[in-house]
Amino acid sequence: MADSQSKPCRTILVTGGTGLVGMAIKEIAEIGNQTNEKWVFVSSKDADLTSEAETCALFEKHKPTHVIHLAAMVGGLFSNLKYNLDFWRINIKINDNVLHNAYKHNVRKVVSCLSTCIFPDKTTYPIDESMIHNGPPHDSNFGYAYAKRMIDVQNKAYHSQHGCMFTSVIPTNVFGPHDNFNLENGHVIPGLIHKVYRAKEDDTPFTIWGTGSPLRQFIYSKDLARLFIWVLHEYDEVNPIILSVGEEDEVSIKEVADMVVDAYEFKGNVFLDTSKSDGQFKKTASNAKLKSLFPDFKFTPIKQALKETVTWFVDNYETARK
Ligand code: NAP
Ligand code: GDP
Repeated sequence: MADSQSKPCRTILVTGGTGLVGMAIKEIAEIGNQTNEKWVFVSSKDADLTSEAETCALFEKHKPTHVIHLAAMVGGLFSNLKYNLDFWRINIKINDNVLHNAYKHNVRKVVSCLSTCIFPDKTTYPIDESMIHNGPPHDSNFGYAYAKRMIDVQNKAYHSQHGCMFTSVIPTNVFGPHDNFNLENGHVIPGLIHKVYRAKEDDTPFTIWGTGSPLRQFIYSKDLARLFIWVLHEYDEVNPIILSVGEEDEVSIKEVADMVVDAYEFKGNVFLDTSKSDGQFKKTASNAKLKSLFPDFKFTPIKQALKETVTWFVDNYETARK
């Protein structure tokens, strides 16, 4: 018999719930299995969030008390270079519809997702949360970067005008199971994983795009999922928080490509195609704020996380997004 005490007192709506980050949050939330929480994971099939009417209907249907807002047009360097206008227009519409409907439907807390690739291009390092708006982003992804920066502006405005607790997190480059392994529009790690798979299958060389020298901090989607749930439960500031491994864990593209080669035990030839863009050289972020608030958090070692992701891709090759 369901009494009032057994009913969930929180309904958490996760937009973008079928993507890389959404699927990881789903897995971790199911392990946590808090009985007072009902999680609802939605994709564009449930509502096209660029439509204000469909977004409003989604909020009316699920009546969320909390929202994790992940839905976005997302892509790696090479799709950002081509579609800056689409990244700007689509993401601005999605974010405005989600945040305004969260306000209209009295949502208690929204956690949205920014990215370290929205930081200023010309800056000092490490970059921290106070520096997001201090100068133009890298030219390769200005559409995506400015649209994401506006979430922070909107969060502050909803707080100052209406007292809303809308906040955001700033992850670095994410990878893991359920990523987009498409070579045209995906990020670097799924691209490398897909390319080594093909090189092994076809007995052809493996080509890394660019010089291999740019530096990145990578975060495993399952670590990010644990941190997202912690932010939902514990972090009550409107200002964003960077979710990143330490500065000492930054690696070059060539180093991460070598780790993918090792994970596959690939023995073929490896080339660098330096005719391809390198994008931003680095975006080194400080995780000092995260460490001060959650000192015990342990990140999965990158080699282990890559091995798990390669295994997932090989096991799910037929159905993976590619
Ligand atoms: P993803 O795998 O591409 O998933 C995107 C999700 O958004 C999917 O569930 C997709 O649904 C949904 N979506 C896209 N357009 C939509 C629309 N018009 N209406 C409703 N839903 C829509 O992306 P991800 O990598 O998980 O990224 C999640 C969040 O993390 C994004 O906000 C992204 O900017 C941020 N982020 C990602 C990275 C990274 O390296 N991947 C790094 C930093 C921050 P369908 O499948 O139905 O299209
Ligand atoms: P970013 O971190 O936002 O710049 O985006 P990406 O995840 O797309 O990483 C881009 C960096 O990885 C650039 O330096 C690219 O030259 C390099 N790279 C090497 N191989 C690949 C690949 O197969 N796909 C992608 N997206 N980038 C690659």
